[in-house]
Amino acid sequence: MRIDLHTHSRASDGTDSPAELVRAAARAGLDVLAITDHDTAAGWPDAQAVADEVGVTLVPGMEISTHHRGRSVHLLAYLPDPTYPPLADELARVLDGRAARVPRMVTRLNGLGIDITEDDVRRASAGAVASGRPHVADALVTLGVVADRSEAFDRYLAWGRPAHVDRYAVPLETAIRAVAGAGGVSVIAHPWGRGGLGRPDEQTLVGLQEIGLAGIEVDHQDHDLETRDVLRSMARDLGLVATGASDYHGVGKADHELGCNTTDPAELERLLAAAAEASARSGRPTPRLTSGRATGTA
Ligand SMILES: [Zn+2]
Ligand SMILES: [Zn+2]
Repeated sequence: MRIDLHTHSRASDGTDSPAELVRAAARAGLDVLAITDHDTAAGWPDAQAVADEVGVTLVPGMEISTHHRGRSVHLLAYLPDPTYPPLADELARVLDGRAARVPRMVTRLNGLGIDITEDDVRRASAGAVASGRPHVADALVTLGVVADRSEAFDRYLAWGRPAHVDRYAVPLETAIRAVAGAGGVSVIAHPWGRGGLGRPDEQTLVGLQEIGLAGIEVDHQDHDLETRDVLRSMARDLGLVATGASDYHGVGKADHELGCNTTDPAELERLLAAAAEASARSGRPTPRLTSGRATGTA
């Protein structure tokens, strides 16, 4: 059983539509796929319909932009009820902040002598719930200013670069509580990579676990083998679920092919059990877990 628990579609900054993402997962031989677009559940319905058709089990999720002690932290949330008001409100604030950021980045780029407009960015983000930094990067590629997204980030858009603009992110504890209240479970994405917690100490993780953190992403392209070993033993010591995933973005991110890292089936079982508990505790419904194979439609 091959399980990939972290992927993006065009509902955020991936390049496949949600339907194409699920078809690509089936072609890549995945049995279980989580769709985890940034700060939105918008891709779920289309992904679910195709998952039924092709026999992939779809775990609905999202990757929430949070911050903790001055660092940006990405939090994967699985099976939350996205209509739960405290969660929905925070997601709306993040998406509003992201949209408001685009004109400010465009202004900065213009100030650097680069001829880019908000329309260029809008064209690059067709199909996304909100335009964001990756779409500004794509527009810069289209305009021939840079060769690819990475160069756009390295030269202009990353933190500390001349066109970087801050935006709203959810305090990490608030996000973990909102996900638990929404009947879902949270896992810190690439804790040791970019957009990560930094080298996590056990004390911090225990504190987060007490308010509902269920796991950490261990096998991710941002982690070298040694980091993975450290994180895996940390997860084992603390009773956290250890996940692995591709962080696939279509052609938007090189070296993140579907299934390049996977999650152990026993770890997925633990994650789903934790989600069932959170759902029972919160009284929020668990979004339907699609399984074309189980229902005989494949
Ligand atoms: Zn991330
Ligand atoms: Zn991601």
